[in-house]
Formats: sequence, structure tokens, C-alpha cells
Amino acid sequence: MPVPTSEPGTINAAQPATNTTPRARAKFPLPFPRLESLRSRILAFAVAAALLPAGTMLGVFYSQNRSALEKKINEDLLSGSAQSARATGVWLRERLYDLRVFAGSDEVVITLDHGARVMSPSASPTQGRLRDYLVSLHERFSDFEKLMVLDLDGKVIATSAPEVTKVPLPPDWQQTLKSDNQIVGDAYWDPVSKRAKLIVAVPAQRADGRLLGAFAAELNLAPVQMLLRSFAPDSTGAIHLVNTKGAPIASSDGVSEGLIKSPLPPGTMKKLRERARAPFEYTSFWKRDVIGTLEYVPQVSWAVIAEISAEAAYLQVRRFRDVALGVIVFLLVAVTLAAYRLGRLISRPLDRLTKAAGEVAAGDLTVDLPPAPGGGEVGYLTDVFNHMVYRLRDGRAELDRVNETLRKKNEELELLSTTDSLTGLSNHRSLMQRLDDEVTRFKKDKRGFSVLVGDVDHFKQYNDAFGHPAGDEVLQTIAEIMRDSTRKVDCCARYGGEEFVIVLPDTSAADALDTAEHIRARVAAKKFSGRKMTLSIGVATFPEDADDAEAIIAVADEALYQAKREGRDRTVRAHRLKKTG
Ligand code: GH3
Ligand code: MG
Ligand code: MG
Repeated sequence: MPVPTSEPGTINAAQPATNTTPRARAKFPLPFPRLESLRSRILAFAVAAALLPAGTMLGVFYSQNRSALEKKINEDLLSGSAQSARATGVWLRERLYDLRVFAGSDEVVITLDHGARVMSPSASPTQGRLRDYLVSLHERFSDFEKLMVLDLDGKVIATSAPEVTKVPLPPDWQQTLKSDNQIVGDAYWDPVSKRAKLIVAVPAQRADGRLLGAFAAELNLAPVQMLLRSFAPDSTGAIHLVNTKGAPIASSDGVSEGLIKSPLPPGTMKKLRERARAPFEYTSFWKRDVIGTLEYVPQVSWAVIAEISAEAAYLQVRRFRDVALGVIVFLLVAVTLAAYRLGRLISRPLDRLTKAAGEVAAGDLTVDLPPAPGGGEVGYLTDVFNHMVYRLRDGRAELDRVNETLRKKNEELELLSTTDSLTGLSNHRSLMQRLDDEVTRFKKDKRGFSVLVGDVDHFKQYNDAFGHPAGDEVLQTIAEIMRDSTRKVDCCARYGGEEFVIVLPDTSAADALDTAEHIRARVAAKKFSGRKMTLSIGVATFPEDADDAEAIIAVADEALYQAKREGRDRTVRAHRLKKTG
């Protein structure tokens, strides 16, 4: 029976279950790349769903936090610089005021006005009444390191110090005294005391306004340093008092010789001046990266710079950013793991289902999926799938049973259509087919065959004497003798009534005669209800005696009748019929 071939993708229940798995793999690969798989999509969705809101929130928090922090830093810097500028201004004004009071004292004015007359020419600046006055002032006012009275030539008339030292006044000091009514010098480093010092001076003049000289003082900058320190933004911040060129006069961090001699670069100073009261980032003294702001000290050309280390300023912001990044990384890892597990939970049974469906589609009905863990829709789908496969398997078994029955029936029909029911020999139709086949075969291999045609002698009498069923038994016994006396390749047939034909492939006339004689003798030797029965047989050989199937039967039949005529119970060899006409 032909095995139906299945179209790709169709279920063929009749197809055997073996050899289907490789076909299933070949014909039903997963039709999507890995990135489009359910698991990848769940993963991508979960990561996006977790990161988008978290990232946005953290981003907003970060920028808000940063701007709040910047605002606070700005406020701290601005208030530090403004307050210290104001306080420094007040401090300087007070010192200058003190000096003006000192300069207006009689000791100073009279001494300067009548110097030649009150002081002997040999009088020393470190001796005399004026000096005593200066010493007493110095003792009472600790902000002054040294107090000096100078004449119009800049010569020290009197000093509170034990000895006279050169006073570092600017070249046009007289002019400045007249125009500004004061001199505020630059800070300089005193290598002896190892301290930064500053010269200030006010005019000493008569009541009528005539300039007599100057009352100068060397200022102790320690109070300014204390003052600046008290307004410094925090431990990482500093406040510097600088002159117009950016050279430090005092600093909350203290000053050194090197610092005094290395002012801020002009570019930085320019920017600080331009952006006064608006903090920005620059490189300050000691090459520190800072955020700072500048504020002018009232009435003098000084300025105060308040600054804070940029690193420290942004430390909190950076900490917040690191925490935010940590949270995001943690979220990412946690969500990825969770999504991966969820994806596996869903996609594993689905993968199994997809693979199994491919196998079933290719005809493998032995598939039986284990229950999906966790049940749910996928569990239900798995149950339904298993049930479906079970039904298909059942259907195929039923179909197999029907096919088997059909096959047997067909075989029976085949047998019935080719077999004689009484004797079990081939019937007339089958015989004729066999003869045709032998003739065809001869055309290919040139190997001939012989035919025996036998007829029971006086069978009618036997029938009449013993009845038809007894006659049937005779026919069956003769058929059995024929079958028993021939090869498997030979074909014994009941030609009709009590007439038989035997086809002997690849058999010469002589051998065929032998076989015929053998059969005839065996029948003749047998007793049928106490009676002897005989056979007359005609023998013909192909292609010697005939050219086709019908002709060979005809010549063998002719020989049979010759045997009848000659007295029956004999075998006669046929001769090619003479063509009539
Ligand atoms: P002959 O020697 O000339 O052949 O004489 P015969 O009697 O055998 O020949 P005839 O043709 O006169 O008779 C044949 C008989 O065979 C007639 C018929 O009743 C009988 N016969 C035919 N088929 C069957 C059958 O299937 N069973 C039985 N029992 N008898 C059959
Ligand atoms: Mg007959
Ligand atoms: Mg007969």
C-alpha cells in the first residue's frame, strides 16, 4: 500500500513516528532571531520600565540638589566677601582716624613746625619728647607696629622703634597726601620679623592747613587676618585681601613672602573684577582650583576675594551623583535578574511548546510535554496541547487499524480474483495473465516455456456414478498432485470444468513431457472410490510450437484431443499448427 507523503507543515497521521525529529528540526526552526524572542522583549521592557522613571527622578533630584548647593555656595561666598570687605574698610578707616588724631597732636605739629628751634640739631629720632609720645601711643594701640613722624623730605623726625629704618613710601607720597589726604601703601615682607607689613600715613599740618610732614605707621596685619578668618566660608574656604594688582595684603590662611610676591594673574583679576559678586571658577593662590567672588573694600583700592575649594564645593553634589549612579546600577542589576527569571519562567514552557509543535507538525506524535511550572495560561496551553497530541495519536492508531483491515481485505480480494475456489489453483484469468507475462519475458531474455493442458477422462461417468461432490473431490486430489509435482515457479491453473493448464517457465519440451508423464502416472496410480481415474495431457512449448499465449493453448489443446483420440490416459507432444489459407 503506498505511504502518503506529507506536505511541509501538514500533519500526516499515517506517517511513522520514527525519523521525524531531525525533519522537524530542519523544517520548523524557530522563525525569529534571539533578540525578538519573548525573553529579550521582557528583559528590554523591564529595564526600560525601571530605568526611565528612576533615571528621570534621580536626574531631576541631582540637578535640583546641584542648583540648591550652588545657590548656598554663592550666598556663603557673597556674604563672606561683603562682610569681610566692610569690616576691613571699617578697620582701616579707624586706624587712619587714629593716625589723624595722632597727627593733629601738639607734639607732632609743634615739633614739625618749629623743628629747628625745639630740637637741638643733634637730637635723634629715637630720643626726645615726640619719641616718648610715639612710644606711649604704640603701647596703647597694638594695631600699630611702629609710629613715625616724617618731615617734608621724608626724613624720620621721630619713631617709636628703637632704631630708624627706611620708610617705604611711594615716590609721589607728598602729592598723594595732598590729594587723598592719606597714603595706604602696598604690603611688603619684612624679613626681620618675618611678617607682612603695611605703611599708612596721614598728613601732619598746621591749623592753617600748611603741610608740615607726615604721620606714618607700620600696621600690624594680624587683626585683619583674624577678621578675614572669622568670615571665611568654611574650613576649605579662604578670604584674601588684595591690592589693585591682585597681590595679597592679608589672608585668612596667612601670608608668606612668596605669596606676597606672586599676585593673581592679571586675567584672573580682570575676570574677578568684571564678575564682582558673581562667583566663578578659577585657579587661585597655591594653584588651588576654587570658586570665588570679589568685593571692593570701601574708600580704598583694596578688594576682598572670598573663595572655596571647587572640589569641596562639589563634593556633596558628587556624592549625591555617586549615590544616584549606585542606585541606578543596583536597580539595573536587580531588574535584569528579576526579568531574566520571569522571562525564563514564561519562555521555557513556550519554547518547549514551540519545539513540540514543530515535531508534531512533522509527524512525531510521541511528544508528551511535562506540566508547565506555575500553571496559568501556559500551563493550560500545555494541557490542551498534550490532549490534542493524544487525540491525534488516537486518531492515527484508529487509522492504522482501518488500513490493516483494508489491506487484509484487499489481499483476500486479490486472492479471490486470481484463485479457483474449488482447487485453490490459479483461475482462468490469472492463467491468461501469466501466459502473457511469460511471452513478454521471453521477448526480453529469450527463455521459453512449456504448457501442459490436461483433461480428466470420462469424468462425466464418474460424476454420474458417484455424484457431483465426489467429482469435486477428484478434481481437488488431481489439483493437489499437480501442485505437488511442479516447482514453485510453475503455475498450475484450473482452465475450466475438469480441464487443467500448467505453465512451466524456462522448461524444454522434453522436460515438460517428463513432468506431464509424472503427473499422469501419479493420477493413474491413485484410486478414487475404488475406481481408477486417468488424465490425457497435451504438451506444447513456446516459442517452438506457437507465437502467442492463445496459440500455445490452442496447440496444446490440439495435442490433448489427439491423446483422447488415441485412447486417453496418455501424453501427446503438440506440433505447430499448419496455417490454413
Ligand atoms: P472425455 O473423456 O471425452 O473427456 O469424457 P468426459 O465425460 O470427461 O467429458 P464430458 O465433456 O462429456 O463431461 C465433462 C463432465 O465434467 C461434465 C460435467 O458434469 C463435469 N463437470 C464439469 N465441471 C465440474 C465440476 O466442477 N464438478 C463436477 N463434479 N463435475 C464437473
Ligand atoms: Mg472436458
Ligand atoms: Mg473429460
